[in-house]
Amino acid sequence: MDSHADALENNTELTVNPLDLEEFRRQGHMIIDFLADYYFNIEKYPVRSQVEPGYLQKRLPDSAPNNPEPIQTILQDVENHIIPGITHWQSPNFFAYFPSNVSVAGFVGEMLTSGFNVVGFNWLSSPAATELESIVMDWLGKMLKLPNSFLSSRNGGGVIQGSTCDAILCTLIASRHRMLDKIGRENIGKLVVYGSDQTHSAFQKAAQIAGIHSNNFRPIATSRSTAFGLSPNSLRSAFLADLEAGLVPFFLCATVGTTSSTAVDPVGPLCDVAKEFGIWVHIDAAYAGSACICPEFRHFIDGVENADSFSLNAHKWFFTALDCCCLWVRDHNALIKALSTNPEYLRNKATETNKVIDYKDWQIALSRRAMKLWLVLRSYGVTNLRNFLRSHVKMAKHFEGLVGMDKRFEIVVPRNFSMVCFRLLLPSVRSVHANGEQLNDEERANELNRRFLESMNSSGQLYMSHGVVGGVYMIRFAVGATLTEERHVNMAWKLVQDHADVVLNMY
Ligand code: PLP
Repeated sequence: MDSHADALENNTELTVNPLDLEEFRRQGHMIIDFLADYYFNIEKYPVRSQVEPGYLQKRLPDSAPNNPEPIQTILQDVENHIIPGITHWQSPNFFAYFPSNVSVAGFVGEMLTSGFNVVGFNWLSSPAATELESIVMDWLGKMLKLPNSFLSSRNGGGVIQGSTCDAILCTLIASRHRMLDKIGRENIGKLVVYGSDQTHSAFQKAAQIAGIHSNNFRPIATSRSTAFGLSPNSLRSAFLADLEAGLVPFFLCATVGTTSSTAVDPVGPLCDVAKEFGIWVHIDAAYAGSACICPEFRHFIDGVENADSFSLNAHKWFFTALDCCCLWVRDHNALIKALSTNPEYLRNKATETNKVIDYKDWQIALSRRAMKLWLVLRSYGVTNLRNFLRSHVKMAKHFEGLVGMDKRFEIVVPRNFSMVCFRLLLPSVRSVHANGEQLNDEERANELNRRFLESMNSSGQLYMSHGVVGGVYMIRFAVGATLTEERHVNMAWKLVQDHADVVLNMY
């Protein structure tokens, strides 16, 4: 190291004020302009990033700078090196996974949250953060017509978690605690959890973290005959078989809007079966829950009044930036019993009155996230929010209609919300060999669709992802990016047709 650098490194004088207010204004405006330009130009970027693994290591220095760098230089690097490695989830041509849509209100709310940067672990640490969260969760709970028992005036209440995985984990731990109180902690190895083979892997992760034996994780098979929803009869049989084997069923995770195909587990009938056996039912409506603020979709969660907990991700299809998983429970004491701690350094009068919520006892993380959801609800209002969601569903329906008119394609499962699951049909009288190996028709169809999807995604013009249900590889067209308009759906359809021509020609 040369002596100049050495001198700088050892300089103990403060050279920059990290919260200089003039810099805050200047850089803040600059970033807003940068992002507004990004959105203006977003369609120019390949939707799915085209970089190779490790690309960034080659472009950035291998250690942090000793000396300050100007924001202009940093933004230039964002433009040159970060943006190429971004998959543009906010592009109007993004139809992959589920949306993670945003809005001006969502951004502004997030800015306010970071601006205040409070750590709201208990009421006293920032009363507004806690109280706003209860109010906003009640507002959204009422929009969803959740039963009063889930609202904060009763024993229930809502809390904003980071992810659905957190929400499932916390409810799983609450119900585990309740059951172990009954049967003795030494029996943890007997506890069994249930979902379907379509339940998101977040459930398996939560079960692993909660110490549920891997043999006691029951993904119950679904089939085309129930549109990949969990059958209450199969659930009952699984409970009975486990009880017969001396095991203890205690938790069901039912899904409204599964990840692969947006299948819906029948909430009411499943709760009825679970109730007979005293099982905690959690409803994971991570994506589709938002749609249930519209009267025409509310029936998908009929029966929720008999569930113990319900969650949806406002950071998916509700215009609110990550992270924002909304969880409601019927009995918040179940969470508190399992998760609360009472260290001396957090003791305070407000907590002792029992009149306040200390959200640290309802979850693992400590940050509060209600501000952005509050801004979204206030800035758009229920009517607009419903209409935004409806417009996505309408565009998905339009795409479904286009697919239905082209005989080369098939809709694989019925559409429930704003996602269409389709595939290219195998042309008849063709013999395809993969690596010289003869494939059966289903494998050939799957291979055809794999190639077809990759061909479209590598064009960079749109991005869709896939799912497999009942052994069928299908393409998922999920509408929900805030900027998507019907013209983007029509362009996507044109691209689908063009690539189908090319791929089918190779067969
Ligand atoms: N549940 C369902 C039905 C999902 O579709 C997803 C994500 O797509 C999740 C859970 C996982 O959500 P999170 O990433 O918030 O844990």
